[in-house]
Amino acid sequence: MPVALYNTLSRSVEPFQALAPPRVTLYTCGPTVWNYAHIGNFRTFLFEDLLRRWLEHSGYDVFHIMNLTDVDDRVIKAAAGAGKRITDHTEPFTQAFFEDRDYLRIKPAHVYTRATQYIPQMIALVQRLLERGVAYKGDDGSVYFALSKFPTYGRLSRLDTRQIKVGARVASDEYAKDDPSDFALWKKADAEDESVGAAWDAPFGRGRPGWHLECSAMALDEIGKRFDVRTLDIHCGGIDLIFPHHEDEIAQSEGATGEPFSRNWLHGEFLNVRGTKMSKRFGNFLTARDLREQGVDAAAVRLLFWQSHYRQPIDFNDEALAGATEGVRRLGELHARLKGGEGQRKAAGDGDLSVQARTLETEFAAALDDDLDAPRAVAGLFEFSRGANRELDRGAGAGDALATFERVAGVLDVLPTPKVADPALASWVAERLAARSQARKSKDFKAADAIRDELRARGVEIEDTPQGTKWRVA
Ligand SMILES: [Zn+2]
Repeated sequence: MPVALYNTLSRSVEPFQALAPPRVTLYTCGPTVWNYAHIGNFRTFLFEDLLRRWLEHSGYDVFHIMNLTDVDDRVIKAAAGAGKRITDHTEPFTQAFFEDRDYLRIKPAHVYTRATQYIPQMIALVQRLLERGVAYKGDDGSVYFALSKFPTYGRLSRLDTRQIKVGARVASDEYAKDDPSDFALWKKADAEDESVGAAWDAPFGRGRPGWHLECSAMALDEIGKRFDVRTLDIHCGGIDLIFPHHEDEIAQSEGATGEPFSRNWLHGEFLNVRGTKMSKRFGNFLTARDLREQGVDAAAVRLLFWQSHYRQPIDFNDEALAGATEGVRRLGELHARLKGGEGQRKAAGDGDLSVQARTLETEFAAALDDDLDAPRAVAGLFEFSRGANRELDRGAGAGDALATFERVAGVLDVLPTPKVADPALASWVAERLAARSQARKSKDFKAADAIRDELRARGVEIEDTPQGTKWRVA
């Protein structure tokens, strides 16, 4: 079955068709590096991670572009507030974003485009729009996109074109849903822009790009120079970007090229924290680094997110996180059992586990092919897990179930992060195990059991095997 994805353009699930298979060009709107990205942002980036992994698993050759917005209204305000130039202000947040991405096991994009490094391409795009008569210079010195010259404006967001106020203009990057107006492509530089290093010379006046323009220019530049195309296969972002950001990206790109900007538009839903929209004001504003500092395993965050469909809102709360942590522990335990080859002892039941593994793989693929139905895929994984544990309990062999399990769990990437024991603990464990071995030799089983309890109290699980006693931090 082919991959099918919900396309915001058509408001329906469609069989996915790439422009030039197996290549897939994927553009995902990245973070504005004025501050740390919050876990709501990362929910979107994780849904995009699953999309990319599933396409790659399905044989596509994905080229993933993510932008870093390092100049826009918010960046300039934050840099001015900190008394810094924009590049100095954004660099630490860019590095923090990469750290958070790695913590959450998100596959790195093939290219991260920083807006400030694409200013010539942005200027060329504005020039082109001016030449084609879909942009004009306002009396305030900024350049605006003329909505009246682009009749299909509003197609993505299903905006009623009657709402468009002819001639009304908006200069701010973020504007209200009920305010479709001519928007700024290029903003005339003011004193604040100059003071933070956010002003560039252009034929139509010194200024800086609007946020929407940045994504169009970077996406078109990257796919143009690499693949000689002007149409993306997939463009993603959070649902809050549908209007005006993505609507404006379409207008600018198609207004310049006359070709469709993206064949598919995918949008991820919001994340609430403890029942409420995340906000510093409500004290429920969470960043990825908060979770990392609390010692939360990234696998649990991923599993928690996969338990809701990307087009459904999620509530991030302590119970959900505890549930996901327990789920990850169970998957890790099964993985260890399958790897331990304990089932090899008796090959009689071998067939049973292989059949279950094949069912898991088929079900898993059917779920993700169906618009990335991760909750169904996760349910299949746990159903397999219960069945596999039962089979192992009665001595069945793992067969090829280990390879299948690793393949499937690898797409979701939800196996626990291996715990590394610190050297002090390791030498203590070695000393205690030697004492236990001595006690067992002298048939002092009471002492041996006491040592096992002592180890367990510090989170160390032991297992006696023909090769000796193995241990791990639980
Ligand atoms: Zn964007």
